[in-house]
Amino acid sequence: MRFRKAQWWGWTLFWVPLAAGAADVPLRVSLLPSPPAAPTALPRSVPVPAGSIGGSVQHEALLRAPHAGVAWYVLRLTRDWAGASRPLLTISDNTRARLTVYLPPDYAARTVSMYDTGLDPRFSRHALVFQLPQDLRANQPIYLALGTPGQTQPIRARITDFSSYQAEDLRHVRMSTLFASVQGSMLLVILCFWLVLRDRMFLYFIAYIGAQLVYQMAASGELFALPGAGLLAPLGYHTGQSMASLAAGLSILFILSFADLDRYVPRLARSLGALRWPFFVLAVMVWLPFLRPDDWLPNTVNLLLVVSTFLAIAAGWRAWRRGSRQAGFFMLSWLPLLALTVLRVVQLIAGLPLPGWLEYGFPASMAYAALVITVGLADRTLQVRHERDMATRLAEFDPLTGALNRRAILDRLRMAWLAAHTDHQALALLFLDLDHFKRINDTRGHAVGDACLIAVVEAIRQELGEGDWLGRYGGEEFLAVLVGAGARGAQRVAERIVERAAALRVPVGDSAVSLTVSIGVAVLDGSIASMETLVECADTAQYRAKALGRNRAVVYRREEFEQALGSTA
Ligand code: GH3
Ligand code: MG
Ligand code: MG
Repeated sequence: MRFRKAQWWGWTLFWVPLAAGAADVPLRVSLLPSPPAAPTALPRSVPVPAGSIGGSVQHEALLRAPHAGVAWYVLRLTRDWAGASRPLLTISDNTRARLTVYLPPDYAARTVSMYDTGLDPRFSRHALVFQLPQDLRANQPIYLALGTPGQTQPIRARITDFSSYQAEDLRHVRMSTLFASVQGSMLLVILCFWLVLRDRMFLYFIAYIGAQLVYQMAASGELFALPGAGLLAPLGYHTGQSMASLAAGLSILFILSFADLDRYVPRLARSLGALRWPFFVLAVMVWLPFLRPDDWLPNTVNLLLVVSTFLAIAAGWRAWRRGSRQAGFFMLSWLPLLALTVLRVVQLIAGLPLPGWLEYGFPASMAYAALVITVGLADRTLQVRHERDMATRLAEFDPLTGALNRRAILDRLRMAWLAAHTDHQALALLFLDLDHFKRINDTRGHAVGDACLIAVVEAIRQELGEGDWLGRYGGEEFLAVLVGAGARGAQRVAERIVERAAALRVPVGDSAVSLTVSIGVAVLDGSIASMETLVECADTAQYRAKALGRNRAVVYRREEFEQALGSTA
């Protein structure tokens, strides 16, 4: 019964239009009513036309494996071969099962599968290819015994000539190499991202694209043409099935993290996240023969794929509407993949033949998705960089005045100190303190005090050079690091700051507030042994400026200060 059904499909699907090569000779296709008693009993010549076997005439034969047992197909040319090069029998489209062919002239049994290591190296694994004799005649039948397991899809048999098939095969190699290399490159790019940024999301992407690549290579058979693939050969098509399931589960993990679905659409994210487990379980179940996975697993994976893809798109859409930029990238990348996944699953479940646009559209959409997602990852990295820059700014700058904070200005001073020591360069430090600032606060209020701080910082900045640093050391005390400045130059800068500050009029309602600063200047010389001493010297000079009546700059000179100290002692 089951076999009849398969047979019915087989005939029906002949109506599906397929692009047959121009060099193909139409075939007469039929099924042996019962298996031959022995392969040697297979007739080696069948009268033309139709003869006792009959059959339908097609450019390409769509052959289906029965659910149990073996189907014996007979293919014949509708006319004697007259091509310039030798005819080839090619069997393509998801040829998972091991099949046996009996070919003229010797009709010796040849059992092959896509996963064998010893296939003809002149051709890719896009098809199983057999050379036929140059003088192949219409009455010489070709027998093909096709059985399970794993052959859920129809396979396509053609007789075509060597040179046109080779052109077609080259085109296939070009296309699949292009799509695989796009994905491989994206994988490498993201691997570099991961090496630098160590975000787990990048690892999910690498694992997902990696599994997808292995799946595609297994499905196209190219995986089994790689050196060392002999080890994989016994695993056969299960490698591809397992990888497809694994890739689907990993893609869910990746999307959840990439589009931040947990945050934007927590409920949908939970449902989508739960769907990754059946995929992981199925990826393992493929390898457990006692569960007979060949009978039910491929379609289960496919159905699950459609459900989870729709759910992912729904979650992505909502997250995008709620402001997840990455969800937008995800939608953009996955919509073509979604459309093709649905079509591919319909094709697989219905057992329709695989048209070229779908065969290449599928890996093409995967490559496109990998490309867009990589751009999305780069975009996210840029966002992270902006956030990090912002955090650095917040960590280094005083929020009121925009000058560096105490830690940052001391860091800069340390750097300048070390550079000045190594390169024997000049370095000066200004210690600035606002005069009678408490009074401004007390009489005009704290907000006016703040406005004065902002205005005075701006005034100080006007007098500093490009390579100088300004930082807030404490409440209304500032440090200015003058790189490359000697005593005279630093004093001039300090005096100009004093003048500029004194000229300031900070507007307050209808009136204005004026203020002054006192500055202590210390210059790096042999007697100053540490950065801390330099700060102390500048501070001491600043005290002196206060003592001398404020609104002035005083340069620290060791002898003078020691004398002064001596006279006060
Ligand atoms: P002197 O001329 O001797 O420096 O007198 P002063 O009043 O400036 O004395 P001192 O330096 O001790 O006063 C610091 C005052 O600065 C105390 C505090 O109220 C004020 N202050 C510190 N930080 C801020 C701030 O962020 N905003 C405002 N408005 N005031 C501040
Ligand atoms: Mg002070
Ligand atoms: Mg003060």
